[in-house]
Amino acid sequence: MGFSLMIHGGAGAIRDPQRYEASLRAIVKSGASLLAAGSSALDAVVHCVALLEDDPLYNAGRGSVLDAEGSVLCDASIMEGRTLKAGAVAAVRGVRNPVRLAFEIMENSSHVLLVGEGAERFARERRLAFESDDYFRTRERIDQLAKAKRKRETALDHSELDDTKFGTVGAVARDTNGDLAAATSTGGVVNQPVGRVGDSPIIGAGTFADNASCAVSCTGVGEDFIRTVLARTASFFVEFRGMQAEQAACEAIRYLVDKVDGQGGLILVDRQGRCGRAHSTPGMLTARFADGVASVETR
Ligand code: ASP
Repeated sequence: MGFSLMIHGGAGAIRDPQRYEASLRAIVKSGASLLAAGSSALDAVVHCVALLEDDPLYNAGRGSVLDAEGSVLCDASIMEGRTLKAGAVAAVRGVRNPVRLAFEIMENSSHVLLVGEGAERFARERRLAFESDDYFRTRERIDQLAKAKRKRETALDHSELDDTKFGTVGAVARDTNGDLAAATSTGGVVNQPVGRVGDSPIIGAGTFADNASCAVSCTGVGEDFIRTVLARTASFFVEFRGMQAEQAACEAIRYLVDKVDGQGGLILVDRQGRCGRAHSTPGMLTARFADGVASVETR
């Protein structure tokens, strides 16, 4: 049985897409080499999302956008399609790879979602890496927040207000055993009020995986995705309406727009290993490895 892998680096108005191509291609290839060597879909999505978190190009981990007080608070989640086990973390400070914390919560606690200080304590117990504020507060992010404050708005990372165009990240995979997994990680939206949490750590909204249907990771205005439970809605289209990956992705985004005029996009791998993507924003950064070939899409 073959494997499939898809990653994303956010959706929005992507004005210089070539800036992301090399990184997206390298990360999808790196994840694909793990899957080719027999790693699980779960390990592959953690690996890819952690690499995206370490790359300051994207709004997750190191490159996270700043909230209204100039802080970085991260959210992430992960789900395993074979068992429906899930782990998630919201509003954590200083954790280098929030996706690894979500994984630890899934594997080593009896809970799904931990937030704030409790989640940070758990990360220390699990000996995860922490970084100082300087690691996260890049010059570009400080300038981006100042601009958002002048305009008195909160914004998606890849929005018109943003000259630097970074974005929330995610990965979906099917491994050679036919198991599915999904993971998503974000710094939220620029200038968000302290304590605001979007869809990325909400299972069923920003992330979902079930071997009976597909694995999904979303990006966009989190409130829109929470209100439409969008990741689960996409998987519902596969499971109960018999749609293939590309059609389910498109129908889910149509649903998002029809119901709440939502902005964003999603990636999806179904149980046959077919990949799908769709977005209601002008562009979306994705890369896939399917049928032995890596490709990058920036529109
Ligand atoms: N969905 C994320 C949130 O609302 C933001 C994004 O995807 O860029 O927190």
